[in-house]
This record gives sequence, C-alpha cells and structure tokens, in this order.
Amino acid sequence: MKSEEAIDWGQRDLRHVWHPCSQMKDYESLPPIVLERAKGVYLYDMEGKAYMDIISSWWCNLLGHNHPRLSHALVTQLGRMEHAIFANFTHRPAIELCEHLATLLPSSLTKFFFTDNGSAAIEAAMKMSFQFHAQSPNEQDRKRVKFMALENAYHGETLGALSAGGVDLYSALYKPLLLDVVRTPAPDCFRCPHSKTRATCQAECFSVVEPFFATHGATTTAFLVEPLLQAAAGMRIYPPIFLQKLRHACTQHGIHLIADEIATGFGRTGTMFACQQAAITPDFICLSKGLTGGYMPMAIVAATQEIYDAFYDDYGTHKAFLHSHTYSGNPMACALALEVLRTMQQEEILAQANALAPRAHQILCDALADHHNVGEIRQLGLINAIELVADKKTKTPFPSELRVGYQIYKQALQRGLLLRPLGDVLYFNPPLTITESEWQHATKICQQAIVSCTTS
Ligand SMILES: *Cc1c(COP(=O)(O)O)cnc(C)c1O
Repeated sequence: MKSEEAIDWGQRDLRHVWHPCSQMKDYESLPPIVLERAKGVYLYDMEGKAYMDIISSWWCNLLGHNHPRLSHALVTQLGRMEHAIFANFTHRPAIELCEHLATLLPSSLTKFFFTDNGSAAIEAAMKMSFQFHAQSPNEQDRKRVKFMALENAYHGETLGALSAGGVDLYSALYKPLLLDVVRTPAPDCFRCPHSKTRATCQAECFSVVEPFFATHGATTTAFLVEPLLQAAAGMRIYPPIFLQKLRHACTQHGIHLIADEIATGFGRTGTMFACQQAAITPDFICLSKGLTGGYMPMAIVAATQEIYDAFYDDYGTHKAFLHSHTYSGNPMACALALEVLRTMQQEEILAQANALAPRAHQILCDALADHHNVGEIRQLGLINAIELVADKKTKTPFPSELRVGYQIYKQALQRGLLLRPLGDVLYFNPPLTITESEWQHATKICQQAIVSCTTS
C-alpha cells in the first residue's frame, strides 16, 4: 500500500506536470511513480520500493545512479563554477574533455562543438554540413541542400532532427512542418528480405539504397545514420558491412556522413563507439546520453579538421558558424563527462561489460528463447532486445491495439523492474556496471511479466 503522502505527491504531479512521450490518460490507471533516490541499477520510490532500471533511464545512465566518482566530480566542480558564457571564455573541464575525446575518436575528428541535448547536436551537425557546402567555392557543391536518412531512423524531436527521423509514430503528423528528407530503405535483419542470417549477411539489402545515391547524390549534403543500432525503432541491430557500404557510397558522391552515436556511444555496443566495429570514419559524430553518465544534459558534435577549416576566415567573410546554446560547454556537465571517461578507463568498465555480455545474452535466451511469442532475442554489447510476435513461425506481430508491450511493462513495474518496451520490443540496456546476479534477477521478472501477459 502506498502511504497517504506518496498518493498526494502523485496527484499533485498530475495537476500540473505534462510528462514526455506519454498519453496522459494512461496515468489514470498507472499514476506516476514518485521517486526519492537512486543507487546503482536501482531507483527507489517514496515507499522505499526498488525498481531495477534495466533501460538506464532512457539509455543515458551509463555507470549506475549516484555513482561515487561522478557525484564527487560534480560536487567538486560546483564548488568552483556552475556555469559561464562559453563564447570567448573556456575552462579546464571542457579543454580536458575534448583532449580526452580526441584520443578515443577516429583521429580525423579533432573539433568539438557543444550543445545541450542530442536533438540540438543533430541540428547543429545538419546546419554545419549545409553551411559547409553553401559556402563552398565549388558551384556544384552549393547545390547540396538535401539530407538523406534511413527508414525507421530516430534522430530526436526538434523539427530538423524529426525530419531526419523515419519513425512515423513520432513524425507523421508534423509532415507539413518538416524538411523534405530523402528516405532510403533500412536493413531489416529480423525479417531479412534476402533470407540471410546475421552470420551470412553481406548487406545485400544495400542494393536498394544505391539507386537513391544515383538520383540524389549530387544534391545531398549529408546522410544521417545511427550506426549498427536503430534504437528507438525497436533496437533494430544491423551488421557493420551495411555501414561500410554506406560510408563508401557517401564518399563516392561527396556526401557527408553524420553518425548519430547518441544512443550507441560510450561502450553500449561493445566498443567505445559503434563506428569502430565497421572501421569507418564519419565526417561528424554526435554524442550525448551516456556522455555525462546520465547526470546532466549535454551533447557534442565532433567534426573533422576539414569541416572546421571551411568555417575559418576573416570575420568579414561571414563564414563562421553563428550558432549557440545558452548552456554550451556547461562546466558541471564537462566535469562529469571527463570523469566518465576516466572512470571507464581506470576501472576497465568496457572490458567488464564485454566479459558479461555473452553470459547475459545466454541467460536471457535460456529463460525466453523457447517462448512461443518470442520471435528473436538480438544482442549487441549489453543491449538485448526481445521481439514479441503473435506467431513465431510467420513472425506476425501482435495487433498494436492489444498493447502487449505496455501490459508487460505494467506487470514488470509491479514486480520491481523498469522495462519500458518500444511497442512489442522489450529490451535490456542497463548501466555497463550491472552484475550478473542483477541481470538474472531482471530476467526472472521479465519472464514472469511476459508469461502473465501471454496465453500458454
Ligand atoms: C535520444 C536520441 C536522440 C535525441 O537526443 P535528446 O537528448 O533526447 O534530444 C537522437 N538520436 C538518437 C539515436 C537518440 O537515441
């Protein structure tokens, strides 16, 4: 039972708060859970009930909640300076962060531009790419005014980023407001049109993307892509070879490749950045989410020296990138991001996560792979996605109005697991520091929740 006080807070919330990505009417039957504190992989409500945060609070919580080192870094920075204008001023946390990032990213990405959320980083990269071509001495390049992106892509919510996205649920209604982005087919490995497996795939499906380059290659400024993982679309995982072919096509046609590593960066996919697995170098990489360990909103656009140089000139030539956000380069967020990188390095976080990853996948498969509504359990790093289907053989989805994923979400919550599915795709994307026994516990609750919502 909830105490009177907790009920009161929940009701007070609903009087004024409009929550993200929610039909607020759903809150009538499932009121907001009033959180009080968090530690490691757990969130605690005002009753002290624990919820295992197996989705890293929307994929940002990288090393666990209330991490001693990160919290200390934040408090230390707070004692020095909370925020200051970043034009003409700088500070050690930003400088050291960029120096450290430069050692981790492909060596040609040497310049870092700060924004305050992921969508804003995407917008900045889009504007930079456009401006790069718009002020090119080459007349042909000045015709590059379009963007290309994959079906099912997700790049954020602001109008430019939403234009690049291809998840209709989020963008269809806003079409009249959006940029006209050339949308190419995306890999669909679960329902591969070439009947390949992940082991035998040579990205045959890229052949249907190529014609788009033939048609739009000369007028496109950049291709946006989420490397290896279309996360918001349902943790759709595709092989590195598709990314290699995409990089090649972009290079052939003089198109910038913008890698959106907002969800995939900082070890989520088993390497520090997903692009490394394809051994490709994009022209831009956008970073956020795990960047600050999930403590503070911050994002970074990493760009090549070549792009930076194209903006570098006397003031009167009007070539500068006149784009700013009030909280650009916030020192507290920079101090956190720097401590995230140091912690990952000194505590060998990625090696530990990679040691757990195969066992973790096996635990989930042992518990769930044989269930008649589990179509596939796919894995990349510690990210595991369970795609539920009505019919395992034909891979027929459940009718969306059944909201099977949402029913399972509610069951799991009752049992103390925060498992926020994407439609009927359940997924684990926990802090990289999760232990095997915590993973086992989450698996057990997930299994119970699935069983309680499906017929046997
Ligand atoms: C979350 C996300 C974004 C948007 O970041 P926000 O900080 O929520 O604006 C963009 N791209 C990808 C791949 C994401 O996962």
